[in-house]
Amino acid sequence: MPVSATPLSVRTDNIRPSYQAYTWQDMVRLPQLRRLTAQQLFELQVVSQVLPFKSNRYVVDHLINWDDPRDPIFHLTFPQPGMLRPDHFSIMADAVRTEDPARIRETANEIRRQLNPHPAGQKSLNVPQLADGTPLEGMQHKYSQTVLFFASQGQTCHAYCTFCFRWPQFVALDGLKFAMKEAQHLVQYLREHPEVTDVLFTGGDPMVMKSRIFATYLNAVLDADLPNIQTIRIGTKAVSYWPYRFLTDPDAEDMLALLRTVVDRGKHLAIMMHVNHPNELQTEAAEMAIAKLRETGAILRSQSPLMAHINDDPATWSYMWNRQVQLGIIPYYMFIARNTGAQHYFSVPLARAWRIYAEAARNVSGLGRTVRGPSMSCLPGKVEVNGMARIAGEKVFVLRMLQGRNPDWAYRPFFARYNENACWLDDLKPALGEERFFFETDPEWGSLPGLSVTDDTAGELQDEAT
Ligand SMILES: *Cc1c(COP(=O)(O)O)cnc(C)c1O
Ligand code: SF4
Repeated sequence: MPVSATPLSVRTDNIRPSYQAYTWQDMVRLPQLRRLTAQQLFELQVVSQVLPFKSNRYVVDHLINWDDPRDPIFHLTFPQPGMLRPDHFSIMADAVRTEDPARIRETANEIRRQLNPHPAGQKSLNVPQLADGTPLEGMQHKYSQTVLFFASQGQTCHAYCTFCFRWPQFVALDGLKFAMKEAQHLVQYLREHPEVTDVLFTGGDPMVMKSRIFATYLNAVLDADLPNIQTIRIGTKAVSYWPYRFLTDPDAEDMLALLRTVVDRGKHLAIMMHVNHPNELQTEAAEMAIAKLRETGAILRSQSPLMAHINDDPATWSYMWNRQVQLGIIPYYMFIARNTGAQHYFSVPLARAWRIYAEAARNVSGLGRTVRGPSMSCLPGKVEVNGMARIAGEKVFVLRMLQGRNPDWAYRPFFARYNENACWLDDLKPALGEERFFFETDPEWGSLPGLSVTDDTAGELQDEAT
């Protein structure tokens, strides 16, 4: 296949690898980084002051091909200079040169505030309440059937993706951290909302939790015996970033046993794997972790955003979908990069995204064509780009709402004027002489406080892992 996937092999027969995180301080000592010039190291240091940086020994030793400066996993986990706007980069570089920790911290926080950490509507619109008015900060409920739950102990990951929009949760910015300790609140909410069928545990990565902690949440839901709950979804990137979570971690067997319990109790257990590139699925450790997860009776699905520098070509996707089908993973979602953090660096215009999607799909059999997308998680809902067409002489995007803030909007097709450079819904205008998109004419739309079609949080990546 014309993809840079280098099969790598990791033996687990006679070693018990233990997790070792790398921060910026550890990184400078890594032999792999000696290949970088002093300038590259400085740039890495500047960007990692602003965007959170964390990697680990497995990622560095087994997923990155250090001979290739364009290696996708290097771009996925190591901040690159282009991820900061030039003006931000230069003030941050000045601060780093002063070597004054307070100045560095203040400059980094100032830039973070400008990076749109919480896109419009996220906090105010999606935080649910119990019937007695208690707000549930660790939950989101946007679409009727699915509740997202952010366990406070799961708000980190085994490594960080450079594009991640969850990054406000990883750094100490006041008031941005989602946290919820009480599983009982979750259960109470699910009891009050019989329309909910799915609970999605997300993060960060819930698989960073000790199985004992995760069991507290899962068992609370199972023991409540809620007839409406059919499916437990777990968003995770652990198979990619730390497959030994399911192989050699001290509580690996306990975690697998916990997952089996969910299945034994009659629930559909869906592991929503976050996989950005086929290289994440090439190691023996990843293969073994997938086999262990499948043995629990879980169904494995995968999702990923489409990102420049990481996976923006059709061959990568068709290779990845084929590989997933081979491993027993059902490809589920392709997302468009949202406009937060370093989107300018990663974003792929909608027209190009659709071409990549369609060409990738044409090269796999029907079993690899199960992916919804390319999809944007926007304020009105999840919007899928179905393609481009010419209608009565006008070139248009054909779009479809996959999920709507108003449930009646779901599955409605609509059109936007073609725009080769549009990257997001708010770059689009209605087509065919219409003044507004259909959802903008809905009374419900007007009742939302101060909204534009910009964007919104979602529970997709992992999440989005996670
Ligand atoms: C995507 C998403 C879901 C899940 O949607 P499905 O189409 O059922 O996978 C749930 N909540 C939010 C906020 C989402 O963005
Ligand atoms: S995208 Fe997912 S796995 Fe990556 S850093 Fe964000 S939450 Fe963690």
